[in-house]
Amino acid sequence: MRVVLAQPRGFCAGVERAIEIVERALEKYGPPIYVRHEIVHNTYVVSDLKAKGAIFIEDLCEVPPGATLVFSAHGVSQAVRREAAARGFSVFDATCPLVTKVHVEVAKLHKEGYEFIMIGHKGHPEVEGTMGQLSEGIYLVEDVADVDAVQVGQSEKLAVVTQTTLSVDDAAQILAAVKRRFPAVREPKQQDICYATQNRQDAVKVMAPRVDVLVVVGSPTSSNSNRLRELAERLGTPAHMVDAAGDLEPAWFAGKSKVGLTAGASASPPAPRLPRCW
Ligand code: SF4
Repeated sequence: MRVVLAQPRGFCAGVERAIEIVERALEKYGPPIYVRHEIVHNTYVVSDLKAKGAIFIEDLCEVPPGATLVFSAHGVSQAVRREAAARGFSVFDATCPLVTKVHVEVAKLHKEGYEFIMIGHKGHPEVEGTMGQLSEGIYLVEDVADVDAVQVGQSEKLAVVTQTTLSVDDAAQILAAVKRRFPAVREPKQQDICYATQNRQDAVKVMAPRVDVLVVVGSPTSSNSNRLRELAERLGTPAHMVDAAGDLEPAWFAGKSKVGLTAGASASPPAPRLPRCW
């Protein structure tokens, strides 16, 4: 069986930076270090950091006074920032700079009187963080039906922002629907979907038609890993997401001679010594 590696694949710069921030906090201040939400959506990274003394929490009420707290790569709302400051935690912010860029844009345009449509997945921590930059005037749409139904406060000054880890194709369709309904809407100067998400999806687009089956390494909560699997399936290539080698099912490979292998931006890149890169 021939295994073909996607290029690029695996960890992005934002994920490496976030992991390093927790490791350096552990080295400098010693355990425990509290981390709000999984620092990145990777089961193995989270287990490893737990073993070193990181404690992952969802609610700041779980953090004791005077503790050191790290915000995950997904970013946090202004309410979380205010609460952390009010409770006197030593905060390290591991928000990916590409997520921060979206937060800064929202704050800047809000001051100019804009409202926002955010394209993203409800409940994803990055979406909660970006929506939470404002107390009102930001509306989430997950699909074209949501665009048709959304009620904005005013449409004269309306801007679009997106989650950074969406399917590029889905986001383009939803954005087109927003522009049909609100022709004067302001688009981001540069697309909010980050380069790491985009170029991993581009690699799968090239690879999927040339392999019999695609394996995506990624944890189930990882948005960009899920999008890679969906993209391959849309292109007609069976695709499976695995957190580890033990999740591989021999039946997936029966009668297949060429297997594509990629990894989401929050997953360690699969074995670099495999024989061939795409
Ligand atoms: Fe940053 Fe994109 Fe990586 Fe998320 S996937 S951490 S936005 S570079």
